[in-house]
Amino acid sequence: MKKLLLPIALLFCYNGMAQNIDSVDFKRIADQVLTKGKCYDDLRILCKQIGNRISGSSRANKAVEWGEMTLREAGCDRVWLQPVMVPVWHRGEEHLALRYSREGDFIDVPMTSLGNSEGTGDRTVKASILMVGSFEEFEKLSAADIDGKFIFFNYHFRQDFAQTFNAYGDAVKYRWQSPMIVGKKNIAGIIIRSISSGKDDYPHTGSTKYAEGGSKFPIVAIGNETADKLEHACLKGNTAAALRSDCGMRGMAQSYNVIGEIKGSSQPKDYILVGGHLDSWDIGEGAHDDGAGCVQSIEVLRTIKQLGIRPKHSIRAVLFMNEENGLKGGTAYADSALAKKEHHVLALESDAGGFSPRGIETTMSKKQREQFEKYIPLFLPYGVYDFDKEGGGADVSPLKKQNVVIGELLPDSQRYFDVHHTDNDVFETVNHRELKLGAAAMTMLVYLVDQHELLD
Ligand SMILES: [Zn+2]
Repeated sequence: MKKLLLPIALLFCYNGMAQNIDSVDFKRIADQVLTKGKCYDDLRILCKQIGNRISGSSRANKAVEWGEMTLREAGCDRVWLQPVMVPVWHRGEEHLALRYSREGDFIDVPMTSLGNSEGTGDRTVKASILMVGSFEEFEKLSAADIDGKFIFFNYHFRQDFAQTFNAYGDAVKYRWQSPMIVGKKNIAGIIIRSISSGKDDYPHTGSTKYAEGGSKFPIVAIGNETADKLEHACLKGNTAAALRSDCGMRGMAQSYNVIGEIKGSSQPKDYILVGGHLDSWDIGEGAHDDGAGCVQSIEVLRTIKQLGIRPKHSIRAVLFMNEENGLKGGTAYADSALAKKEHHVLALESDAGGFSPRGIETTMSKKQREQFEKYIPLFLPYGVYDFDKEGGGADVSPLKKQNVVIGELLPDSQRYFDVHHTDNDVFETVNHRELKLGAAAMTMLVYLVDQHELLD
């Protein structure tokens, strides 16, 4: 027994020392990002000098140029553009007026067409409104019940979920799937209650999808206040809508993912990826979604360079194109990685807002998780504690098929779905300290995985 004591004591001592070195390095990372980080300044330029940047638009092209320049300035060893064809959706003019009673006038309301929605052609479509609370309720209606009407899917964002991403996951099918549920039936269009936690009247856009060979009708969202008013009126009956919109798909366009890389010193063919998506919806400024993730990813590489850390693995920042309405960038990146036999050990995304980081979700195996667990206390001084969730970002999800551990930064979620996909997702709603702490947490994880070869 005595013989064993010394090695065990040494092991504890070594572990303690290693943790100590890591905690000093974590502090250096946090100090660097919080006092000298440039991600907030980068976000200001992206939001204010370029603005929103839907796939295939001239502003998306400008964002590609900006991304390339900013990654070079951050000190990457190599920066390049990865070609990707993207679908082009055009909004154009749009108006929605509601009539709340038989005797009432049509009143213009705040609205937004959903991404990928068709328009009304060259005319105003006028029809009565049928309110439906759920898909189950819709399925019980006959063709005669719904024929030629606007269907108002009035599903409420669940305020009883403490984590808003759970409420979003619960409600978002009413944005994404409603046209598929309607299928080939004949309706004037769909109006949805926005997928929004907000107590306001901002309408929220986002992708929707028609059934293969199904009817093509317009689909729009209204804000929560308008939806409350319409719900009230529908209970009394005789409501109607008048909609005119020019939106629709406009073919495909050439675009790019923007990639910056720091070459690894001992394992240059093994990659650790951080990323966000460069495209945004065509309203607001795409500040939280996902300008924040882009500038944080750039900050990770900048911080590694500034601190003189020599990573073992090659570290890449990828600014993905077309997350919002096609995921073409994430798919193209994974296809290229497979074709080139690039081995990724971790692909970490930030696409849940630029708020205070609370944790990082991953798809680590049980064994990897056990290895990682002893490092969790290092994150606690920075308010980052939640590593239990299983998951990863949308753009890195195609890499999961290649057995890559994927992950996503988990910021505080309470305000995200107030601004997500709205005119209100602007630079002013991002706090510089919260944004930087997120970038620091991402850098810390990359540092740990790289230096300790945790996922190799
Ligand atoms: Zn996003």
